[in-house]
Parts: sequence; C-alpha cells; structure tokens
Amino acid sequence: MKPTPFDYAAPRTVAEAIALLADPARDAKVVAGGQSLIPMLNMRLARPELLVDITRIPELTHLTVDASGALHIGAAVRQAHAAADPAVRHGWPLLAAAIKHIGHPQIRSRGTVCGSLAHHDPAAELPTAARALDARFVIAGPHGSRTVPAEDFFVATFSTAVGQDELLSEVVVPPPPARRGWAFEELTRRHGDFASVGVAVLLERDPGTGTVRTARVVFSGAGPVPVRLPAAEDALVGTLVGEEPLAAARRAALAGLAPSDDIHASAAHRRETAAHLLVHACTTAWERC
Ligand SMILES: Cc1cc2nc3c(=O)[nH]c(=O)nc-3n(C[C@H](O)[C@H](O)[C@H](O)COP(=O)(O)OP(=O)(O)OC[C@H]3O[C@@H](n4cnc5c(N)ncnc54)[C@H](O)[C@@H]3O)c2cc1C
Repeated sequence: MKPTPFDYAAPRTVAEAIALLADPARDAKVVAGGQSLIPMLNMRLARPELLVDITRIPELTHLTVDASGALHIGAAVRQAHAAADPAVRHGWPLLAAAIKHIGHPQIRSRGTVCGSLAHHDPAAELPTAARALDARFVIAGPHGSRTVPAEDFFVATFSTAVGQDELLSEVVVPPPPARRGWAFEELTRRHGDFASVGVAVLLERDPGTGTVRTARVVFSGAGPVPVRLPAAEDALVGTLVGEEPLAAARRAALAGLAPSDDIHASAAHRRETAAHLLVHACTTAWERC
C-alpha cells in the first residue's frame, strides 16, 4: 500500500516545529528516523496531513555530558550514533547495549533514540533502559518546555506524556553511580525481531559491606509500559546475589508480572522467560559490579 497524501516540512528551529504542530488547521505529526512512522503511513495506520521533520534542527543534534555528569541526547540523535559514542559506552553501557538489540544496523542508523521513546512500543528496548536509568524527558510545546520523569512519561502502549502539539526535545540520563553493574537481556524468535520479553538490571555495590546497595529491575514486554519490579529489587538489596536472593528475585518475577497473551507468546511463557532472564541478568550485572 501507499500512504495517503501528505505535505512535508523541515523546520530549522524548535519554535518553527512547534508552530507547525500546534496549527489547528492541519493534522501534523513529527517524523524523526521514520523507522516506525513510515511503515505506519504505508499501512495507513496513520494519516497525517503534514509531516514535520525534526532531524534538521541544529538545536536537537546534541549528544553531550553536562557539568553534573548527566547525559543529554537531543531528538535528532540516531540510535547508532548514541550506541557508538565513547561517553555513552563508558558511562551508560546499559543504554549502548539496549540499542544494539534494536532491529538491524539499517534501522539503528536511521532511527532516533527519542523517536523510539516517543513511539513507545512496549516491547522496545529504549523505554525499558530509560526507565531503569531514571531518565528525564524534556518536552517542548507552545507554552515552553517541561521535564517529565520516566515513571510519568510512559502512559500506555504507543502513548506517552508528549501532547499532539509538542515534541520530545531531549532525554536526560543522570550520572552513573560508581561500582555499578548492569545487564540487558531479552528473548527474540529471530535475530533483529522485537523481543517477546526483556529485562534491564542495574546493581550498585556498597563499598563498605560489599553487598548490593541499590538495585533496579525493569522489564519490557510485560505490560503496557516498562514494568519496574520493586519486590525483585528488595530481594537483591543487602545480599551478595547468591543462590537464595536469586531464587527470591525469580519468585518475585513469577508472582509480580502479569504479561498478556499475543500471537508471539502466551502470558505464562512470557512470565517464565522473564524470570529466567532476570536471574541471568542479575548474575551478569553482579559480576560487572
Ligand atoms: C524492520 C524493523 C525492525 C525494528 N526492530 C525494532 C526493535 O527490535 N526494537 C525497537 O525498539 N524498535 C525497532 N524498530 C523501530 C525503530 O527502533 C524505530 O526507529 C523507533 O521505534 C522510532 O524511531 P524513529 O526515529 O524512526 O521515529 P519515527 O518513525 O520517525 O516516529 C515514530 C513515532 O514517534 C513520533 N516521534 C518521533 N520522534 C519524536 C519526538 N522527538 N517527539 C515527539 N514525537 C516523536 C512520531 O510522530 C511517530 O509517531 C524496528 C523498525 C523496523 C522498520
């Protein structure tokens, strides 16, 4: 199929882009990498009258670390660029690892980090990584910018806090703690497919006791938004991540996750897989601490 006719605009500033998105006379939509939107246009699942291409806006091309050590990724930054960036690989390896699971190199070289976050497929890697890393989302609109924490950004499947007349201008990832280990694991039927379920784990080692000081466990494919599981985190904190804490974390995943059935996997299979991935990811993260 071919898309319904649409106009195309390539503004040079965020203000111009917002003015186009906020124009009540036209149904406008942001296009970034086009790796999700163009297939949706071709299948006529989306029928915007105007595409607003934000990848030519110089204000949105930054990939920087600020004085506090936080990482800023502008809306025009491609996934492949972020994954290859030395600062990202060194400071936020969970992010770089999550991106490497996305589709294929062709997808990652066009798709943007913020586009994946704004699109918010519940099986996608980046929303899960962003939730695990406590990212903040800067949303630009007609009345200025606002910052939304990760727990409030993802609203439902394919739905976020970004309004129709707004755009996600950047994602900000806090500085990484010292002595932290990480892992990102997922199960796909074939290389490059969307995962049926995945998990991001971050563990921080207490330098005094040598045990886990903080833990973060977030699943993809387990609900309409990235699912954080505090019961699994509690099972790990204060331990040396041995057999018993891992078994407790596994039990917490089996008891606490409520994924749904679809054509790719049953809910029971997803839950069992998630629990298995969690044990593996915790072991890997602890080895990296
Ligand atoms: C064959 C194939 C395999 C793929 N496999 C995976 C995979 O395994 N894992 C995965 O996570 N993704 C996968 N993707 C999707 C890919 O990651 C997309 O790049 C991503 O979902 C969207 O990013 P984009 O920059 O291409 O956004 P676009 O396609 O341009 O836009 C997607 C949606 O987000 C909106 N949008 C984009 N940027 C912004 C912004 N800054 N502010 C507000 N709204 C915005 C658009 O209006 C649109 O609704 C795959 C895609 C393809 C074609």
